[in-house]
Amino acid sequence: MKLDNLNDIINKSKNILIATHINPDGDALGSMTAVYSLILENFKKKATMLVLSHIPNVYNYLPHIKEVKFIDEVDKSMVYDLVIAVDLAALDRLADAQILYEKAKFKVNIDHHKTNNKYGNIVVVEGDASSAGEVIYKVAKDLDWKISQDTALCLYTSILTDTGGFRFDNTSAQSLRIAAALVDIGVKPVDVYKKCYENKSKELVLFQNYCVNKAQFLDDDKIAYLVIYKKDLDKFNAKSDYTDGIAETLRSIHTTEVSFVLKEIGDKVFKASMRSKHIDIAKVCEYFSGGGHKFAAGCTVKASAEDAIKRIVNQIHLQDF
Ligand code: AMP
Ligand code: MN
Ligand code: MN
Repeated sequence: MKLDNLNDIINKSKNILIATHINPDGDALGSMTAVYSLILENFKKKATMLVLSHIPNVYNYLPHIKEVKFIDEVDKSMVYDLVIAVDLAALDRLADAQILYEKAKFKVNIDHHKTNNKYGNIVVVEGDASSAGEVIYKVAKDLDWKISQDTALCLYTSILTDTGGFRFDNTSAQSLRIAAALVDIGVKPVDVYKKCYENKSKELVLFQNYCVNKAQFLDDDKIAYLVIYKKDLDKFNAKSDYTDGIAETLRSIHTTEVSFVLKEIGDKVFKASMRSKHIDIAKVCEYFSGGGHKFAAGCTVKASAEDAIKRIVNQIHLQDF
């Protein structure tokens, strides 16, 4: 791990920005709040945490989450001494915050996406780590930073959610060891599990069932997909996180090899969430300028729903399918 002089840089920085990807998930928010509390407790400095879109309600329990600023609350002309990006595979996922990133004097990139394009002055990308939280834990240990109960809760949330509750193939001995170390610090696994997975709104569960009912199947049910239109989202007054997990539900069918969910985000613009059991769908998403992991990746496709489906299915067929 190459950390160069991160301690020095944090010490010298008067203002620090921590940012993560749009539509933040548990790892994005867990790793952002973890870095915030690490800097607060080890350097006595208050950084600015920034999000580009809605924070799913389930993550309201994260320490310091109430201090997170929305992009419209932040002065865009500000020049930060240091920006730390976490769980951010590519800079375009910073949306309107890219300008703040570009202007910052020093840039740190802490991530675990194999497709990460290594932007920044200090790059700590571990493609085999379960989550950005796992990488941050190692950074903190390497630099001898104190990990408090608050920080441990944030990091545990990162690892728990990005491993799908310690079930996905990124659940390694290392991620379990780190999770155990966080439990030693004081994290209560059952409490975090309940907060993340048994705390959904009635509306979200009903919306997801409505969507799953519209699933389509191709290639002897090896491909399962569905399209969620704006009118569906409006009908249920759906928040951005309401669609999280639907692609996993489609993958849970025993015949499914690849699943994808297309969400309409503009006129002939769809956000694709893809999941797979064996084939490398990060490659499929990279073709559409997106990325992610071998079995969980995403991209944006500019086409009608019909064309987007055709183009995605074509790319899936080009893999070892
Ligand atoms: P999602 O389907 O949005 O849950 O994303 C699945 C995985 O792919 C996550 O690790 C995301 O960070 C990553 N991902 C999603 N969309 C993109 C994108 N446009 N570019 C790079 N990575 C992405
Ligand atoms: Mn993420
Ligand atoms: Mn992640």
